[in-house]
Amino acid sequence: MITIKEEREDILSYLEDASNFKGGNADKVYIPDGEEELKRILSECANEGTSVTISGGGTGTVGGRVPREGVIISLERFNRILRIDSKNKTSLLQAGVVVNDFLNEIEKAGFFYPPFPTERTAFIGGNVATNASGEYSYKFGPTRRYVKKIRMLLTTGRILEVERGSVYEKDGMLNYGVIRVPVPSYRTPGIKCSAGYFSQEGMDGIDLLIGSEGTLGVITEVEVSMISSLPQRAIIVLFLQNEKGIPEIVRGIKEDFGERLYSLEFFDAGSLEFLKENFPEIPEGTCAVYAETGADDDTMEKWVTVSDRYNAVDTWLGESRENYQKLIDFRHRLPENINAYFKKIGLTKIAMDIAVPEKSFPDMYAFYREIMQSEKLHTILFGHIGENHLHFNLFPADEQEKMRAWQIYETCVKKALTFGGTVAAEHGIGKIKHKWLRIMYGEKGLQDMVQIKKTFDPYCILGLDNIFPKELLM
Ligand SMILES: Cc1cc2nc3c(=O)[nH]c(=O)nc-3n(C[C@H](O)[C@H](O)[C@H](O)COP(=O)(O)OP(=O)(O)OC[C@H]3O[C@@H](n4cnc5c(N)ncnc54)[C@H](O)[C@@H]3O)c2cc1C
Repeated sequence: MITIKEEREDILSYLEDASNFKGGNADKVYIPDGEEELKRILSECANEGTSVTISGGGTGTVGGRVPREGVIISLERFNRILRIDSKNKTSLLQAGVVVNDFLNEIEKAGFFYPPFPTERTAFIGGNVATNASGEYSYKFGPTRRYVKKIRMLLTTGRILEVERGSVYEKDGMLNYGVIRVPVPSYRTPGIKCSAGYFSQEGMDGIDLLIGSEGTLGVITEVEVSMISSLPQRAIIVLFLQNEKGIPEIVRGIKEDFGERLYSLEFFDAGSLEFLKENFPEIPEGTCAVYAETGADDDTMEKWVTVSDRYNAVDTWLGESRENYQKLIDFRHRLPENINAYFKKIGLTKIAMDIAVPEKSFPDMYAFYREIMQSEKLHTILFGHIGENHLHFNLFPADEQEKMRAWQIYETCVKKALTFGGTVAAEHGIGKIKHKWLRIMYGEKGLQDMVQIKKTFDPYCILGLDNIFPKELLM
């Protein structure tokens, strides 16, 4: 049975996500039980020309599931784990399975899902739609690498089932049988990237669907691969006196720990201020390098040497279950505390999601530092430094500062693009980063995406304003 919510107070929570993007509006929320119902809703909307926004767990950070009009279809009842295949190390999941439920279930069977998405209340379908990265993306990469099959319902009522290895780019085209589309003329940079439709020469057709942000079809099922449960790990946080030489320290840690490294993060002094409420023992004025590695004796001994080498003011070790959990909390708290802060002051967050190729990272880092020193704005810098991907956050205090913050954003985007970087490494484009995508791929790149979108969704009703402005569809 389809549940339909129409009362304003019942649908309010569907009109937001973690972006604090304002202006969410919808007439109703449909909650179908299965594909047949979903198909009926889509067909009705297609006939009426009603726009449809797909809702997953609502943890997105770019307004992707926040509609401007029309109806919402929530996948919350597509929550069954259909199969855990221990022999082939795969799982078949409905798109609304909550990440945490999935992780818990496979843990019991001795398996681990390598994307290990950071926000565990997200849905698997949402993760695939955004190509989410996770806690260990330094070691394992994003969701894309682990998606073997996607089942997608199109607005035409057709089911598209794409298995990795079954559709390849040939003569510039991807042929899905029911649909043929040209591969975009731009190329997705070979770094951590979730900006626009994926495009690479000789690409697998499944990769176009991954990261398509709810614009091509409704993902109803996914098959993903798993690996055996991980060996024991430990977290180390090195508190350093100042931020001099951070890129070199990071490179040194990568060389020292190689394959043993699962994650490598950075928190500047300003970011640590956001954590002091929960962790008052953070040494004053320091910045921190946070890493997770294997916990064998050799590795732990190496950490002692590394901590001495870089003259750490303090070193926190999460080896025991309790301390490990405490440091996981330390890492997770920062985006949560920042999001809470933005929500409280009622501003759209001005936060970058830029990544650059490894060789250019020291220059990009120096560029951020220069801005931080020369501008009056309140800024912080933190994130996935191991992947050359930092979140530069700006906190404008008034309208004038806000204008300046957006100018700085543009300067950083342009700088990163000169290095072959990306404007969106993990969060996608959604409704709030059109401008940066246009700078990244140009008008022709956007038109290529529009053409693909129109082929998959000829009624142009799905996920409007995600990735590119809906006006381009006219
Ligand atoms: C505290 C916090 C930390 C986070 N950390 C990270 C991080 O480290 N890395 C990272 O990548 N992200 C991170 N995120 C962002 C977020 O968790 C991911 O983008 C996640 O993949 C969104 O999934 P969701 O189910 O919540 O999707 P939603 O927010 O509901 O939707 C996201 C987009 O996917 C589309 N969509 C959802 N389900 C489907 C479907 N079945 N078919 C087609 N389209 C669909 C929606 O229309 C929308 O465009 C974080 C978020 C929070 C709040």
